[in-house]
Amino acid sequence: MTSQNPVFIPGPTNIPESLRKACDMGTMDHRSAAFKEIITPALAGVKKILGTETGEVITFPATGTGGWEASIANTLSPGDKVLAARHGMFSHRWIDLCQRHGLEVQIVETPWGQGAPVSKFAEILAADKGHEIKAVLATHNETATGVRSDIAGVRNAIDAADHPALFMVDGVSSIGSMPFEMDAWGVDLAVTGSQKGFMLPAGLSIVGVSQKAWSAIETAKLARAFFDFRDMRDAVAAGGYPYTPAVGLLNGLSVSVDMLLAEGMDNVFARHTRIADGVRAAIAAWGMTPCAQSADLYSDTVTAVVVPQGFNGTDVVTHAAECYDMAFGVGLGEVAGKVFRIGHLGSLTDAMMLSGLGVAEMCMADLGYPIKLGSGVGAAQEVYRHGPKASALAAE
Ligand SMILES: *Cc1c(COP(=O)(O)O)cnc(C)c1O
Repeated sequence: MTSQNPVFIPGPTNIPESLRKACDMGTMDHRSAAFKEIITPALAGVKKILGTETGEVITFPATGTGGWEASIANTLSPGDKVLAARHGMFSHRWIDLCQRHGLEVQIVETPWGQGAPVSKFAEILAADKGHEIKAVLATHNETATGVRSDIAGVRNAIDAADHPALFMVDGVSSIGSMPFEMDAWGVDLAVTGSQKGFMLPAGLSIVGVSQKAWSAIETAKLARAFFDFRDMRDAVAAGGYPYTPAVGLLNGLSVSVDMLLAEGMDNVFARHTRIADGVRAAIAAWGMTPCAQSADLYSDTVTAVVVPQGFNGTDVVTHAAECYDMAFGVGLGEVAGKVFRIGHLGSLTDAMMLSGLGVAEMCMADLGYPIKLGSGVGAAQEVYRHGPKASALAAE
């Protein structure tokens, strides 16, 4: 799509001009001192955004999926048992990746639209007296259904069973947009990529690694070479990279973390919550509901909108692309056709979101949905409108 419209897919997200420019760099000798000036602040900033002081940040030229693979390959051995829930396309894909690596995945099948089954996990972990489960996997924000899981709750379940399993969390569509507390939640491996909350092009895996995960590396036997955390840590400590780094993306990451931290993470989270509240108000005004089954599960970065009986959500997405040059997300897997998704994360303002809601309304009206033009936009406007900003009043 070549139009100037923002995208409303849950990644890749809109790239701010400043970040696009930061990625557009001339050739650099990555063995020169200049590279260290890029990677050092980038990793330090990511640590703050992950909420970790004791963990370390590792990047690879890859994507979020590479971060999953790196996390298991560095810390587990063939035949190891891991515990995971399947409740959407991304939790499903992570399970599939583990199985392809020869891990035994104990899968808790969970309805799509629900979150990580905390009490079921608690039961299973408490019953695992022999500590056969080596890792617990959770998808913080299931991008297929727009469901936020209770990561602190999963941590509590692990602690209540006094279980030594590693805790791996997919934060690809939450980190940098929704509160994430790697240390407070005792997350051992926190996985994300460059193209969602960090507002960059795709191309970087970003993984937070706890000290406990570092210890696991020494005995873990899954094959790893390109993704070996130790090679990466040693090379970065010496101011370099074990192979040719994606210098432009890392420079973008350094500028991205500065942007996020300058806005203030609390403000970033509040902005995402407000924008998402507007989207949810619009959906309610259309007489429709999110796929997430209760308010505590609502994601602040993506909403899967359940379409009425007799309609196919994919048509809304196709129509928006063809007629209005705007991108929304299709339903995936079990909810294909039953939902369309509105991504609302990254570089986004209230005004941009109103444009997305306006186009979604036009598409639905064109396709014969029983909605009234302006109803959703109006409901979102009520969420977004406010008087003069406090900063403007102070300047008067
Ligand atoms: C986007 C996404 C992924 C996949 O990330 P890639 O960067 O496309 O490999 C994994 N998990 C979640 C929750 C996602 O939203």
